[in-house]
Amino acid sequence: MSSRYNRKKLAHAGVATRNIHLGVVPDPVTGAILPPIYQTATYAQEAVGVNKGHTYSRSSNPTVTTLEAKLAGIEYALGAVAFATGLAATTSLIMATMKQGDHLICSDVVFGGTVRLIETIFNRYGISVSYVDASNSANVSGAIQANTKLIFLETPANPTVKLNDIAAITQVAKKHNILVAVDNTYLTGVLQRPLELGADIVLYSTTKYIDGHNATVGGALVSNNQGLLTEFDYVRKNVGNIQSPMDAWLTMQGIKTLELRLIQHSHNAQKVADFLSQHPLVSKVYYPGLANFSQRELAARQHIKGLHGGMMAFDVIGGYDHAVKVMNSVVLCTLAESLGATESIITHPSSMTHVMMSPEQRAAIGIQDGLIRLSVGLETAEDIMADLDQALRS
Ligand SMILES: *Cc1c(COP(=O)(O)O)cnc(C)c1O
Repeated sequence: MSSRYNRKKLAHAGVATRNIHLGVVPDPVTGAILPPIYQTATYAQEAVGVNKGHTYSRSSNPTVTTLEAKLAGIEYALGAVAFATGLAATTSLIMATMKQGDHLICSDVVFGGTVRLIETIFNRYGISVSYVDASNSANVSGAIQANTKLIFLETPANPTVKLNDIAAITQVAKKHNILVAVDNTYLTGVLQRPLELGADIVLYSTTKYIDGHNATVGGALVSNNQGLLTEFDYVRKNVGNIQSPMDAWLTMQGIKTLELRLIQHSHNAQKVADFLSQHPLVSKVYYPGLANFSQRELAARQHIKGLHGGMMAFDVIGGYDHAVKVMNSVVLCTLAESLGATESIITHPSSMTHVMMSPEQRAAIGIQDGLIRLSVGLETAEDIMADLDQALRS
């Protein structure tokens, strides 16, 4: 089917059809339904200046190119550039769009590694940054300087699930000719499409939901702007941070079930959030599908299908010590740093992902000592709830 079901038809097909078929046709030599892994460093050239589109695997590789077609497809975008990790994508984004003396606006609650990259690496190269509570769009307008080149948002944000209004912020940015990048790792294009809301670039850690099986690390930049895509490609070729063919191949298998997984992650998360909301040892649950979620109207407007993904956070009664006890008592949930996979993963930001911040810095962005981050997996929801219940009571 896929060889006859061409690109033009796929442009109008549903997300699941696109995720399964985009970029892939049965191998013309063997009929193999899955594409081969082009595990090669270089490519024989027919004559000087004559090649089949690939010359060296630091610049491009056919397996990575296939993955990129699928990644662009998830966002209904013009193109994608795949990197070795999510942070390699962030590094390349800043290198491609900023230079010494430029200013970056970053939302105040983002993946910890993003802050560390900006604070300890890019500050050496004369790039300044303002962190703003972007859940109030006026704070972003207020932080714009004459040399602001890029606004970097993460929504929902890690770990407190705080949202930014992408459409409102991109409207302001356009007036000032500033690019907007959105880290869409939590929801993916299945549940949120930043480019359709006006953003210029979507950033992914494909390590998380895109792969979805804890098998690889990877990253990507997705855009409708050919000039930007060319820049990202150029940085990647020079910096040398392209994704490996094996990781690209594994990641494209994960993409086939992305929609199915995100829907089920959302259903499981809603059940777990409802359960935790009623639990006597839990003081607060942060999940956009709950009636008491503070940005419920924005979630309804910005998220697709009325679903909100698999990420949530909750405060336990008893603070730091009780949170650590819960961490050490779970048996089905895995105590680990990462998210977005079939396995439920539980994290204690104060002692793990956000340990480099002071308690005061953490409190300022809503990370209490008893806050637990939960990536709700695809196990049977009742089993996840039973595990959390016994860990909370232990
Ligand atoms: C994990 C993560 C990253 C970084 O990705 P790596 O693949 O670990 O380099 C960036 N943003 C978010 C939201 C993440 O969860």
